[in-house]
Amino acid sequence: MTEPIRVQNRIGDRLQPASTGAEFERRDPADTRRVVSIAPESSVDDVRAAIDAATEAAVSWRRSTPSRRAELLTGASRLLAERSASIAAEMVAEEGKPLADALNEAGRTPRNLELYAGEAYRLTGATFPSDDTPLVYSVCDPVGVVGVITPWNFPLNLASRKIGPALAAGNTVVFKPSPMTPLLGDRLAAAFIDAGLPPGVLNVVHGVSAGASLVADERVGAVSFTGSNATGSKIHAAMGVGRRVQLELGGKNPVIVLADADLAAAAAIVARSSFSLSGQACTGAGRILVDSSVYDELLERVVALAGAYVLGDGRLATTTMGPLVDEHAVAAMEAAVAGAVADGATIACGGARPTDEAMAHGCFFMPTVLADARAEMALSCNEVFGPVVGFERIDGLDAAIASANSVPYGLSAALCTRDLRAAQQFAAEIQAGMVRINRATVGAAFNAPFGGIKQSGTGTHKEQLGPTVMEFYTVMRTIWMGN
Ligand code: NAD
Repeated sequence: MTEPIRVQNRIGDRLQPASTGAEFERRDPADTRRVVSIAPESSVDDVRAAIDAATEAAVSWRRSTPSRRAELLTGASRLLAERSASIAAEMVAEEGKPLADALNEAGRTPRNLELYAGEAYRLTGATFPSDDTPLVYSVCDPVGVVGVITPWNFPLNLASRKIGPALAAGNTVVFKPSPMTPLLGDRLAAAFIDAGLPPGVLNVVHGVSAGASLVADERVGAVSFTGSNATGSKIHAAMGVGRRVQLELGGKNPVIVLADADLAAAAAIVARSSFSLSGQACTGAGRILVDSSVYDELLERVVALAGAYVLGDGRLATTTMGPLVDEHAVAAMEAAVAGAVADGATIACGGARPTDEAMAHGCFFMPTVLADARAEMALSCNEVFGPVVGFERIDGLDAAIASANSVPYGLSAALCTRDLRAAQQFAAEIQAGMVRINRATVGAAFNAPFGGIKQSGTGTHKEQLGPTVMEFYTVMRTIWMGN
């Protein structure tokens, strides 16, 4: 892929540029001299036009049959599966992850749509015994127009987990992909449109400020958002009373390693948790809490595994760690390392950009392990969102759980142990939406609830599992049917 691909907004039945003609570029994070995609910088008017189209289309789409919705979702799923190889190649170029990870994401996204195709048939209500009328029953109606706002780190999979259930429930959608991945956002939308989705049922607006305009419009009855806490807080405040919002936000996810753990397995779990997707997974580990008696050995093992990652362009078969998303992210890693060192941490490995000439034009940062971290350091409290992880000494499970629970986040947490009783205590007491025993903090099951607690999200409507997801995208009303 040499020439940049020009992406347009999808509004009603039209593909169109921004009304102002403004555009932005997305560059390849492995070599920022290459422009991968060019997309419209949408104005308030463009977003309004997309909401107009979604509002108009909502009248007939809410009356569409379950079979019709399911067929369209299944059709989009099939097209995504057919296109997965080319989509994965574009994902590597636009977002940066290694090809194997991109193929994995492109390969599992169609399954999300299969899951939600089935949900179109399962929108149930209930009947209630009544003293004064023959029939009292509840029905699930669509909310209306749903805003979908997504980050860049899983540009396909994450958005499909929102658009799929929204459409299955009979809502229309205005989708605002990350400005880092406009092409991938368009590829996802194209699969629905090419499967035959009626005009206006799914609209796409690109840009840096389009998300705020989307949220500000009162006609958008629900917003499903995944991204940073800073943005999530603004959206939450803007939605007000009467409109619903689902936030999936950041984390400071711990891995606790007890003295009895299988240390080889624990080291692999720590490395995978810390360095998958260059540390840019929301569920990635940021704190490694290690029992003092095994601290040195585990540190040594994880440093060895960190050193085995092969940094590089995700297109190369040898690459196991791609670039960070952009230059700002690299600068943020440098600042996090400098801050931690000033606070007393020591660099056990990494801590800098690679010096290899082949990576000189990319946004690379070496997998970094910081020893001697402590709970009160900024490193241990704030999300870093890159391949930088701090090792802290702890003594015993109680202290580890208390320390892990001291941060405001509650997304994912892992424990490495051979002790079933410790595992049970951890599962009961750790404040995290997703709890793993002898498993990495990263990863998700497409048919199990996914989401955080505390500041990691609204927590009320988890993504990914049918019933709880569909509640977010439907309004339940109760009807008293008289004679
Ligand atoms: P971000 O908050 O910067 O951007 C996310 C989206 O919000 C983008 O599309 C952006 O354009 C849009 N946006 C920005 N300002 C807005 C506003 N005022 N109103 C409405 N929309 C606005 O996040 P990011 O950098 O793209 O993603 C990284 C963050 O996402 C990390 O904090 C990570 O933990 C989090 N994340 C969470 C999960 C989860 O499931 N909990 C999954 C992936 C990523």
